Amino acid sequence: MEKGFYAFGTMNYIRIDSAMPVKTQDLLLQNMQEKCEKLDDLLSAFKSESDIGKINANAGKVMVSVDAVTFRLLKYAISYAEASNGAFDPTIRPAVELWKIGKKEERVPEKNECQRIRKLVNYKAVRFDAVSQSVLLEHPGQALDLGGIAKGYAGDVIRNELIDNGVTSGILNFGGTILTIGKKTDGADWKIGIQNPLQERGAIIGSVVLNQDALVTSGVNERFFVKNGIRYHHLIDPYTCEPARTGVLSVTAAGDCAMGLDAITTALFILGVEKGIRFAREMGVEALYLCEDGNILATKEFAKGKYQIEMKKKIQQ
Ligand code: ADP
Ligand code: MG
Repeated sequence: MEKGFYAFGTMNYIRIDSAMPVKTQDLLLQNMQEKCEKLDDLLSAFKSESDIGKINANAGKVMVSVDAVTFRLLKYAISYAEASNGAFDPTIRPAVELWKIGKKEERVPEKNECQRIRKLVNYKAVRFDAVSQSVLLEHPGQALDLGGIAKGYAGDVIRNELIDNGVTSGILNFGGTILTIGKKTDGADWKIGIQNPLQERGAIIGSVVLNQDALVTSGVNERFFVKNGIRYHHLIDPYTCEPARTGVLSVTAAGDCAMGLDAITTALFILGVEKGIRFAREMGVEALYLCEDGNILATKEFAKGKYQIEMKKKIQQ
């Protein structure tokens, strides 16, 4: 049985293959959808009543008490910001706002506008109080955006819940964040296509074998606009507050925690191939880069290890 629903700014699909009664499956998937909608209500930067909306509205003013889930996820987000030395930065929102990528009014801002907001993008200025479970952005104008990590977190939560409810075979696709449960019912491994970022959705450049793991991709093709022949996408370099230009079209990472992979792939994109491969190794995840010059680079489990990969083109290690 399969269910698709909108949350986290994208379409999400859950498919379970189970011998449970249809009614039970239906109810389970309905519950999972509601759980995601609740998470979205807590974590969306676009909803003024969400925890993130409230923290943003009170930037530079007062601590905001939040749900335990928000508190925990924010702590994780900051830890990935620290690990990546700020390549992943959950305080990126002022920059995302400036470009309005994904909205009708998308625009190329002036260089000095980007420079002006650079100091607002600073994960070190997020203050936590564990006793009151509250959060403060220290400077007025600062704002959080968990778009780079929330889908991964939700994926982990839902996958675990499905397993706890007896699901032994299934696959989740939360806007490109993929998680699998067990094997396919015929005993075969799950095979996931890797999107060609320069072609229409569904055009794949190869596929990966994935089993009991998560696979996450960040790429130029998710959200972008083209102006004067330049493609402006939604992965913003916190140092310049402009879309990152590192010659990368997309980066895919595999591992066992979708939340971590989500934050890490965003960082891997910003870091570019050289620094990124080093960071992936440091974080213990496997990475696969598709580059503008046609090169495909990967760490060893993608190149010839447990995530066997079939690419239409040769992979460099
Ligand atoms: P998607 O699956 O939507 O492509 P990603 O995980 O690739 O999501 O993250 C992109 C989103 O993360 C952007 O839409 C934006 O909200 C946010 N973002 C962009 N740049 C950064 C960054 N450097 N650090 C953290 N979050 C970012
Ligand atoms: Mg991400």
